[in-house]
Parts: sequence; C-alpha cells; structure tokens
Amino acid sequence: MAEEDHFLYALSSNNAWAGYKAHQNPQFFPKLASGQSPKILWLGCSDSRCPETTILGLQPGDVFVHRNIANIISPTDINTSAVIEYAVAHLKVKHVVLVGHTACGGAAASLSDNRVGGVLDTWLTPLKAVRYANLEELNAIKDDKARATRIAELNVEAGVKVLMANMTIQDAIQERGLEVHGCLFDIGCGKIKDLGFGTKGRHGFGINGTDEIVRGKHAQLVFRGGNASMAVRP
Ligand SMILES: [Zn+2]
Repeated sequence: MAEEDHFLYALSSNNAWAGYKAHQNPQFFPKLASGQSPKILWLGCSDSRCPETTILGLQPGDVFVHRNIANIISPTDINTSAVIEYAVAHLKVKHVVLVGHTACGGAAASLSDNRVGGVLDTWLTPLKAVRYANLEELNAIKDDKARATRIAELNVEAGVKVLMANMTIQDAIQERGLEVHGCLFDIGCGKIKDLGFGTKGRHGFGINGTDEIVRGKHAQLVFRGGNASMAVRP
C-alpha cells in the first residue's frame, strides 16, 4: 500500500464505522453530540497498541483520556495537570486509572545507556530516575522483556504517588470517594492487571469480595480479584 493510501483507507474506514454505528443505533451520535459524562479518566501510553476505549471494550463517551510517551505523570506537566483538573473537578469522573504496559519502548529506552535524541531524553528523565532508584532490583532481572515490564510497573507506582499528591485528586477523594488505580496492560494477551497502587491499597479492586462495576453506555467493565474484564450489557 502506498504511503498516502493509509490515510485514505482510514477515512473510508471511518465512513463505514459511522454508517454502521448510526444504523445499529440511530440515537448513538445525536446522544454523543449532546454532551459527555465519562466515569473513567485513563492516563496511559501513546503506544499505538494501547487504544484505551478499544481495549476496555467501551465506546466513545465512556473514557476521558490523556496519553503520553511511557505514561509519565509529572506534577509540573501542565498538559497532564489540565486533563486531570477537567476530568476530576468538572466532569467528576469516578475513577482515575494510570496504565503502563508491557513491551513499552519508553521503558526500554530508559533502561538503556544510549541517548534517544532530541527532547525525548528530557521527557524520559523521570523514568530514568525510577531506574536509578531501583537499579539493584532491575539489574538482577536477566530477561530484557521482564526487566522492561518491571520498570513499567515501578513507573506506574511512581505515577500513582504523584496522582495521590495532586490537590484536585485529594479533594475529590475526600469529598466524593474518587478512586485512583495503577494498572498494567499486557499487550501479549490483551488483559489489564490491577497493580494495587492507589486508593484501595495493595489488594486493589474487589476487596472484601465485592466486584467493582464501571458502566459505560454500551458495555460494563467489571473489576474482580485484581483483574478487569469487560461484559457487554444486554
Ligand atoms: Zn509505552
């Protein structure tokens, strides 16, 4: 396929999708156009293999999103901060979910001593700091993939700490029980694992045997025993 054809194909695919959705439910787009009330704020990696709404099995309108390279949560990043502020204080989402993933290029780059170049090394500095703070543990992992997965987990842990210190998030936790979660998406099997960081501590979702159910417009996400699974609503 010639390079320009990818864009034309995407546009024609969009046209087919819009036609299918409108045919399936004539109210789908008019309802979307009337406003949004997402229950989840997803903070994830820009990686093309981690499209949040798709992998959650949810629909447009269900997830408010900020993604950046290696899902780095930095308190001085005004982009991340603005998204958090709007989602938490204005849209009043019920869950803030920070999601790292396996096979993350940013994680791999932070484990290397080579420079990526340009602004990328600066961007990855917080992840490098995570590496140096956990050097002994990371160096003890001989398998490259396992080491990259482990630093991705440590990065989520560090990011959740920043989220828990965010004043907008702190207010919402106290005032209305906002929940903060740290997760890892396994690209190799498509599943999201709760790492147990955040408002519910190490036991994560489903503590005391209760399942956490997040309802989207067309599907619901069930957090059970530390794992999220998706069920399409009848
Ligand atoms: Zn990534």
